Amino acid sequence: MRLSQFHLRTTKETPADAELVSHQLMMRAGMIRKLAAGLYTWSPLGLRVLRKVESVVREEMNAAGAIELLMPTIQPAELWRETGRWEKFGDQLLKITDRKEAQYCYSPTAEEAVTDFARQELNSYKQLPVNYYQIQTKFRDEIRPRFGVMRAREFLMKDAYSFHISDEDLVREYHNMHAAYTRIFTRLGLEFRAVQADSGAIGGDASQEFHVLAESGEDAIAFSTGSDYAANVEAAVAAAPAPRAAATEALRKVDTPTQKTCEDVAALMGIALQRTVKSIAVMTEGGFVLALVRGDHVVNEIKLAKVPGLAGYRLASEAEISQHLGSEPGFLGPLRPREAIRVVADRDVAAMADFVVGANEVGYHLAGVNWGRDLEEPETVADIRNVVEGEAAADGGVIRIGRGIEVGHVFQLGRKYSEAMQFSVLDENGKASVPAMGCYGIGVSRIVAAAIEQNNDANGIIWPVPMAPWTVAVCVINPKNDAQVAQAAADLLAELRAAGVDAVLDDRGLRPGAMFADIELIGIPHRVVVSERGLAAGTYEYRARRASEAENLDKATLLARIS
Ligand code: ATP
Ligand code: MG
Ligand code: MG
Ligand code: MG
Repeated sequence: MRLSQFHLRTTKETPADAELVSHQLMMRAGMIRKLAAGLYTWSPLGLRVLRKVESVVREEMNAAGAIELLMPTIQPAELWRETGRWEKFGDQLLKITDRKEAQYCYSPTAEEAVTDFARQELNSYKQLPVNYYQIQTKFRDEIRPRFGVMRAREFLMKDAYSFHISDEDLVREYHNMHAAYTRIFTRLGLEFRAVQADSGAIGGDASQEFHVLAESGEDAIAFSTGSDYAANVEAAVAAAPAPRAAATEALRKVDTPTQKTCEDVAALMGIALQRTVKSIAVMTEGGFVLALVRGDHVVNEIKLAKVPGLAGYRLASEAEISQHLGSEPGFLGPLRPREAIRVVADRDVAAMADFVVGANEVGYHLAGVNWGRDLEEPETVADIRNVVEGEAAADGGVIRIGRGIEVGHVFQLGRKYSEAMQFSVLDENGKASVPAMGCYGIGVSRIVAAAIEQNNDANGIIWPVPMAPWTVAVCVINPKNDAQVAQAAADLLAELRAAGVDAVLDDRGLRPGAMFADIELIGIPHRVVVSERGLAAGTYEYRARRASEAENLDKATLLARIS
């Protein structure tokens, strides 16, 4: 590959709307260009990186025994009605109507489509277990698309779905996928943690997320210094044995007969509300309304003392509030009767999409709420720190709180989808049996941004080799005027390629300073400079992306260093 024949377009300016370093650098390197909110074109350079990530994911999924297929992104409403998700999925589901007035959606995930495939293809236990996966574009109408491809609306996901005759076999495959994910993120050179995402239903760890560790991450996660144990804060707090002293104290303050504004309550709960909210209801895990704040009046209080084993607090849904108050029907009029927003427990992905936070006034609601993202979390995290950080963990270590970017998620689904879609196979005794399912997602495009969050410096991106657009850049000084140098560079490129190294020739004829700045910005792990002076001395100037100085090496040493 010659850069003179490639499309490379870097810029010095940092776009104003790019908050995260990964977003800034992807824009500056010209890896992505925005088409519309949450929609990005991957440039030829960006696509090389995306494809590399994809190929590591594909190789490891294949090695783990999963089988690739490809399902449509446009899916019929009837399928989604079978599981109730046509209504329940919420506003992230983009609905489309065709010329015949038939309804479709753009797939945000594919449990329905894969179960439909499975029920057509599979009829005997002998065909199980099976794990189908695809690497396919998804669309989620995220309420706040941001950070470039980190939280886009259209993005590339690897999604896998497994089918099993028994729960035990589902648990086995879940562990198999967990191991495959560990290999994938290790190979990609990422610093990551597998994080407990809920307390576990079917087989212990019923759901775990894989997080790339980064200060900019949207999710707070709790670690133990004593072992590999890590959990997202919801799971950590739910699992914490000690009473949540800080939260209890905060709620005790809410639960006083004095008038409180929504802002007061939010402050006491340690929540930074990002927009005007006109009412707040606070509920405990036990289902009690602690305080209902409307405008600047507390209109309902139930004494905290009545709440047994307070494990946490959450905001309540309209349905729950009406149920508990038995009064003022439609009090939260425009708040759709959906599930509650929970601070604690239950991070069911589909349900998350339904969460609504807001007020009794149109336009003051956030749908598809993500606690950490939409209600800024610093104080909440601080609050949780008070509860769990520094506490002794069961493994003898100490609990710490950090931040992460969710790049993968493994889930034991059980029979929710197979049952709803009436999918069964014949078991060994010839009886109909509903298969158990697992699902396993990886944010392929998000990984690209997450890797940059972990690997960058003042000069730009520093790619881990497996996802670099090229492993080596051979930079030619003055190629147009020096045929000998140009030839030597072309020879070196051919040798590198013959040795299986993904190398690119920078023959654009830029001034050395500008050329090196580009190569550093786009994060090429190894740089070799071919110059007249070097050739005369029989050396090449070599510099690793992270090294502070260049060295002059002869060809054999150079090749050994790179491959
Ligand atoms: P998040 O909590 O970040 O919204 P999620 O839990 O909704 O993610 P999953 O349904 O678990 O996402 O999807 C599998 C993976 O797809 C996630 O682990 C993440 O890496 C990726 N992903 C989800 N939403 C987006 C998005 N809007 N943009 C880019 N990648 C995404
Ligand atoms: Mg989401
Ligand atoms: Mg999530
Ligand atoms: Mg998830």
